[in-house]
Amino acid sequence: MSIAENLSFYKEEVGPEVTLVAVSKTKPNEDILAAYAAGQRIFGENKAQEMTTKYEALPKDIEWHMIGHLQRNKVKYIAPYVSLIHSVDSLRLLKEINKEAQKNNRTIPCLLQVYIAKEESKFGLDETEVVELLDNHLLELPNIKIVGLMGMATNTDNEATIKNEFISLNVFFNRLKQTHFSNDQGFQVLSMGMSGDYSLAISCGSNMVRIGSAIFGSRNYIN
Ligand SMILES: *Cc1c(COP(=O)(O)O)cnc(C)c1O
Repeated sequence: MSIAENLSFYKEEVGPEVTLVAVSKTKPNEDILAAYAAGQRIFGENKAQEMTTKYEALPKDIEWHMIGHLQRNKVKYIAPYVSLIHSVDSLRLLKEINKEAQKNNRTIPCLLQVYIAKEESKFGLDETEVVELLDNHLLELPNIKIVGLMGMATNTDNEATIKNEFISLNVFFNRLKQTHFSNDQGFQVLSMGMSGDYSLAISCGSNMVRIGSAIFGSRNYIN
């Protein structure tokens, strides 16, 4: 199957209500252009420099999403153009994004990454930290717009575990809508689900999925 065929298959699979982020990390520009030619405009990358090199080389109507752990000293490279940062996992990072957004005269949409997996290696805030951040720090971050949450499930074959994690994030997302965003229709993105678990994620309330290997083929190294 070609990239274009895979893309149209997964677009159909996720349906019109769910935003498909094509995760192009490690993949060459020609693969991205093949997806672009098939109509895809939203691409996800997990490294600031790789994303910036691709941004500079590729069509300017592409929306670039940062999905990977972001170091504070890399924010400046992506702040001029990034359209959504999924992976905000600390207040310090959020303050840095705010500062660089200010320099670029823009507001940067962000998702708070919530830790839902039973694995030490996954980044993210816990629910208490999210609430604390929303309660006490939003006013000092005028150039940030929190538009939703992102989560990654445990890397396991146990579907019940994954499902429980997705459901708990959806419950938390809907709670925050009522407690912190009842006057803000902009808090609306729930980013969860990848190649292996996107349909389970959608059945648990996801409205943004990040699909890489199923579209572009497997990656040559762990990333
Ligand atoms: C790589 C990556 C994906 C895509 O993973 P696939 O299994 O290739 O679909 C999704 N989300 C994040 C945060 C990633 O780093």
